[in-house]
Amino acid sequence: MTDTETVETTETTETVEKVEKVEKLIQPDLQFAKDVVAAGGDSLKKCYQCATCTVVCNVTPEDNPFPRKEMVQAQWGLKDELYSNPDIWLCHQCSDCTAYCPRGAKPGEVLGAIRKMSLQEFATPSILSKLVGSPSGLLVLLALPVVILLGLISAFGNFPSKLPLGDEIVYAEFAPTLLAIDLPFTIAFFFALAMFFLGIKNYWGAMAEGKKLSGSVIASIKGVIVEILTHTRFDKCDLIPKRKISHMLLLYSFLILAVATGIGFAREWGHLLGMELEHPLYIPMKILGNIGAVALLLGLAIVITNRFAKAAQLGLGSYFDWLLILVISTVAVTGTMAELLRIGNYAPVAYWVYFIHLVSVFFLFAYAPYSKMAHMLYRATAMVFSKMTGRNGA
Ligand code: SF4
Ligand code: SF4
Repeated sequence: MTDTETVETTETTETVEKVEKVEKLIQPDLQFAKDVVAAGGDSLKKCYQCATCTVVCNVTPEDNPFPRKEMVQAQWGLKDELYSNPDIWLCHQCSDCTAYCPRGAKPGEVLGAIRKMSLQEFATPSILSKLVGSPSGLLVLLALPVVILLGLISAFGNFPSKLPLGDEIVYAEFAPTLLAIDLPFTIAFFFALAMFFLGIKNYWGAMAEGKKLSGSVIASIKGVIVEILTHTRFDKCDLIPKRKISHMLLLYSFLILAVATGIGFAREWGHLLGMELEHPLYIPMKILGNIGAVALLLGLAIVITNRFAKAAQLGLGSYFDWLLILVISTVAVTGTMAELLRIGNYAPVAYWVYFIHLVSVFFLFAYAPYSKMAHMLYRATAMVFSKMTGRNGA
């Protein structure tokens, strides 16, 4: 082969490789684009790629910034690129981009819809994701805890009609702690934990494929925990300044309530094992529980007020967003009411309010890997991954 022929052959091979690469890169999946629209990104088609959103986003790293590139990927239906892209979770949904988009394309909401779809992609079993993501699944999801808890209460406890309504209200007489509370809630807790593990494992696998990870896992996790506890990235959001306060109130109320629940659990099991933990732990548990409940109610009030105050600019949000707000609100309101009704000794309503509280807590935790609640772990995972890949600004 002459030198000229060798050069021609090399050029031809490079051209073929380039064509193959282009063909591989651009394989539009229009059904996926339609799914994004159906999942709450209905403004996607309005985007004409001006990049204003990327310019106004204060959260994005400067290198290879978002959300314009995600808008292009979504319009082309580039599902794999989006699902394996940590940036869709680095977005903190502050909606600054949505407010400034000249076309009303709402990139913040489009990314929210893609996050929901990404949960459905990675979470297992997928049927639960589909049920949580659609209003038509709500009754089925509610039926499960109602049937389980009613079954356990009828087997081991007492319906209010069997309890002496004039006497002091004791919720443990209605739903025995060990068999009607600890048993189903422990199973729900470990189920959620296992499903979270599988979902996050799938997500990490998709992100890490073909990528070079260099940073330390421990140092990255530590950095992310500090960022989450201080909510520093929320400082960068312009449009909804109170979002940091409401988000922190919700986060810390959950942490406080988790500690109070842990104390309650230790007290109860200590009692069962004959240890005298009753008196010293009862008061801090109650105090923490009440502080957590007030913080939760306050955080929810700010979240809901913000959403309505900015509705004209940003829209009210999707069913997926509101389902979580509704479930947490039900947990907070029924928990507070159950305590007040017990103090006021109003038994005819108290036991049923307590029952609704149990159902809503079960709903919140058992379905957490499929609901917007999962954003805590998916976003934290994306932040760890970004640190480990040296994503600029992450
Ligand atoms: S979403 Fe809006 S601001 Fe962003 S590129 Fe598209 S049209 Fe421009
Ligand atoms: S919602 Fe906020 S964080 Fe997300 S892309 Fe828009 S401006 Fe950036």
